[in-house]
Amino acid sequence: MKSIRELYKAGMGPSSSHTMGPRKAAENFLAENKNADRFKVYLYGSLAMTGKGHLTDVAVIAGLAPKPVEIIWEYKIFLPFHPNGMKFEAYDAAGNLLNSKTVYSVGGGDISDGADKKEDSVYPHKNMETILNYAAEHKIPIWEYVEDVEGKDIWAFLAYIWEQMQKTIERGLEKRGALPGDLRLERKAKRFFRKAETAPPYVQRMSTLFSYALACAEENAAGGTVVTAPTCGSCGVVPSVLRLTKEIFEYHDAAIIRALATAGLVGNLAKANASISGAEVGCQGEIGIACAMAAAAACQLEGGDNKRIAYAAEMGLEHHLGLTCDPIGGLVQIPCIERNALAAARAMDCATYAIASDGEHRVTYDEVLETMMQTGRDMKSDYRETSAGGLAKFFKDKFKNRFKFENKFWKKKEGK
Ligand code: SF4
Repeated sequence: MKSIRELYKAGMGPSSSHTMGPRKAAENFLAENKNADRFKVYLYGSLAMTGKGHLTDVAVIAGLAPKPVEIIWEYKIFLPFHPNGMKFEAYDAAGNLLNSKTVYSVGGGDISDGADKKEDSVYPHKNMETILNYAAEHKIPIWEYVEDVEGKDIWAFLAYIWEQMQKTIERGLEKRGALPGDLRLERKAKRFFRKAETAPPYVQRMSTLFSYALACAEENAAGGTVVTAPTCGSCGVVPSVLRLTKEIFEYHDAAIIRALATAGLVGNLAKANASISGAEVGCQGEIGIACAMAAAAACQLEGGDNKRIAYAAEMGLEHHLGLTCDPIGGLVQIPCIERNALAAARAMDCATYAIASDGEHRVTYDEVLETMMQTGRDMKSDYRETSAGGLAKFFKDKFKNRFKFENKFWKKKEGK
């Protein structure tokens, strides 16, 4: 299991696997082939199917800039190592092939050459069970275990991540209007925040939580800077839960950062032992893991012990098992944005449920991760970030004409 520094990344949305990862791969290939005159990039499988909505081509071209780039969309080819495959080719002015490399975007902005998916382990323990045993033996909370492994400078890193998360919330709450893309989806965060101000206490609390999650998810959809937690598409769950919990309990940032460490460990276990890639396991690996991370963090902040924290994380994922990835039009908007808000609410519920319980639970976090991975393998590729099934298919078939009309209307209105 790698450092949690590899999990939380501040960068531009809308997709860690379809934007951040491909851009990083493109930048690396450019650095290795500085003398090339032009590039050809093949985008395979899920990267081709949802790449236009997720701005994969824009990210790759930016990563190889200023050299000319030809993008080839290989919709029907899924490479065996991972559904997010891409091949880079470098050419000289005469058209001779100089170099070629196949790279995979494996989720959360990470890239792989197909062989190093689970290397560079810094953690001595491989799963939640052994971590809980170690923590019980040494009588330490989970966040202290993270400090023992990562070193004291992890707090400066997490303070930076928390600052970035809050900046995203602030930016998202300021903005109004339609998000980019054919859906013309309106930003709603600010409205939810305003409504909360005059609502009765319960509605106020929920509406505020929703507004924070929407603020992050809308910033992501607009290509703004977000933190992967664990991915861009699910970037609103952890920050919104932390921000609301901080406000309710009036915590100092130090407590929030410790909760961020625990959440990071929960996300890291998923990354190492299962997957956080929507193209590999559907949305259960993005929103489901984000919910598990946020539930663990909230449980810790509510005073839960290690057993209850692990229980909260387990529930956060268990009740998202089977969740498909079917973004309409390939945009990280429907169902993604609303899903962040609802997963944040579920994370708070899981934390409270775990606190109210005696902490005993039959299904462990390790087992639910294994189940998620198997469920992902059983899922048809139509439901794994290809926009070929589910809501994406329904919307495409049923609203084809309305879409055409709306696009014409808006283009006319904007004088295009
Ligand atoms: S449906 Fe879930 S996994 Fe798919 S793009 Fe949206 S947030 Fe990511």
